[in-house]
Amino acid sequence: MSGRRAVCIGGGITGVLAARELALAGWDVVVLEGRHVGAGSSSRTAAGIRQQFSTPETVRGMRYSVDFYQRFTAEVEDGTCPIVQSGYLFLYDAEDSWASALRRVEMQRSCGLSEVEALAGDDLRRRFPWCADTLVGGTFCPTDGFLLPHVVYQEGAKRVTALGGRVLQNAPVTSAAFAGDRIVAVDTPKGSFEADLFLDCTNAWTRRLARVLGAEDLEVDPLKRYLWFLARDGSMDAETLSRMPLCIVPSGMYCRPENADTLLMGGSHATPPEPDFAYDDQDRIEPHYAHDGGVDAHPWTCWAEIAEAIPAVGEFGGMTATTAGYYATTPDHNPFLGYDRQRTNLLRLVGFSGHGAMFGPFTALVARALAEAGQDLPSVEVDGAAVPLDAFRIGRAFDHAEALVL
Ligand SMILES: Cc1cc2nc3c(=O)[nH]c(=O)nc-3n(C[C@H](O)[C@H](O)[C@H](O)COP(=O)(O)OP(=O)(O)OC[C@H]3O[C@@H](n4cnc5c(N)ncnc54)[C@H](O)[C@@H]3O)c2cc1C
Repeated sequence: MSGRRAVCIGGGITGVLAARELALAGWDVVVLEGRHVGAGSSSRTAAGIRQQFSTPETVRGMRYSVDFYQRFTAEVEDGTCPIVQSGYLFLYDAEDSWASALRRVEMQRSCGLSEVEALAGDDLRRRFPWCADTLVGGTFCPTDGFLLPHVVYQEGAKRVTALGGRVLQNAPVTSAAFAGDRIVAVDTPKGSFEADLFLDCTNAWTRRLARVLGAEDLEVDPLKRYLWFLARDGSMDAETLSRMPLCIVPSGMYCRPENADTLLMGGSHATPPEPDFAYDDQDRIEPHYAHDGGVDAHPWTCWAEIAEAIPAVGEFGGMTATTAGYYATTPDHNPFLGYDRQRTNLLRLVGFSGHGAMFGPFTALVARALAEAGQDLPSVEVDGAAVPLDAFRIGRAFDHAEALVL
């Protein structure tokens, strides 16, 4: 059906992939991006892509995302595959957390993730000889990995245009016109845009956009998250580093190769919400989180915890850089994917607590299904199976938190 108009507000991975999906379904789409495509978290991400989650709906959704990113290669101008499938390895050093991991593996396999492996002690060290003797086990999924995010948002934007849509940059939405509980048009310095459906893809900015649109104030807190880069040295050679999967050590810190000579490290830290952050704040590095902030600075803790699980990383040469961006954290670490309860033609696709890059294709699939339905749905179909949307509903009770949050 043509003649239906949709406006996606925000030009990160979410907005661009949702717009592409609606354009494929015959919608006339416009993406309105406040700065430039990729100006938010999408260009500041560790971009890990995993299907090892703790809730069945997310496992199924992320299986769809991995499959999508492989297929997306056909839409990339120079044929670059946007996903590097070097695997994800969760490491455990205590019997109780290992027992929970084994239960999760069973659940993940029942959702079709047949390739996930549970490797106990010696099996783990045979497969990954750089693992410490103190580890009791690890779960490994070889089809997990990480994204080249710029390939996704840049090529995704080109695809929207090729499908007849428009992508406008330097077009922040600053006001709107309403008819009852519906949005009629949004205003930007590049003009006003009328539509039948509006999609909020602003993630960490969503509370501010909600004020502009008279929409519900969703519990989404912008929390600063840092990444650090470490130079390879010591006993680990370039080939071993470049083939290392993304590893999550028992404390929750993670690392993955950025290239054959550089390790990227990250992990959660207790930063306060910054509801009014400015664009430049995304790259602001607080001294306590700087790689050159001295041995009491947080990245040294991160490095030490990773080295405890992977001793060869302790021999690396030193930290070379820090980058940062914002997570858009919700109380249960699941995003909001659904219609706003105050503005009935506004879809909210926000609140990615650090996994919006991997959610991107699934989010776009949900957006298309809800756009076509004109209302919230109990589930969407993914590869012939119904994936319930309860965990992502606006107004849910936040009583089923995602356990594997990095
Ligand atoms: C350090 C770090 C590590 C991460 N690691 C991972 C990971 O390993 N795996 C993973 O999947 N995810 C990870 N993430 C999270 C992931 O990057 C984000 O969830 C994802 O990029 C969100 O994409 P988005 O398109 O929803 O939001 P964004 O990319 O933030 O895009 C939102 C856009 O909205 C625009 N905007 C805001 N207000 C307006 C307005 N009024 N009008 C128009 N436009 C507006 C902004 O300019 C911005 O471009 C990480 C994030 C960080 C910061």
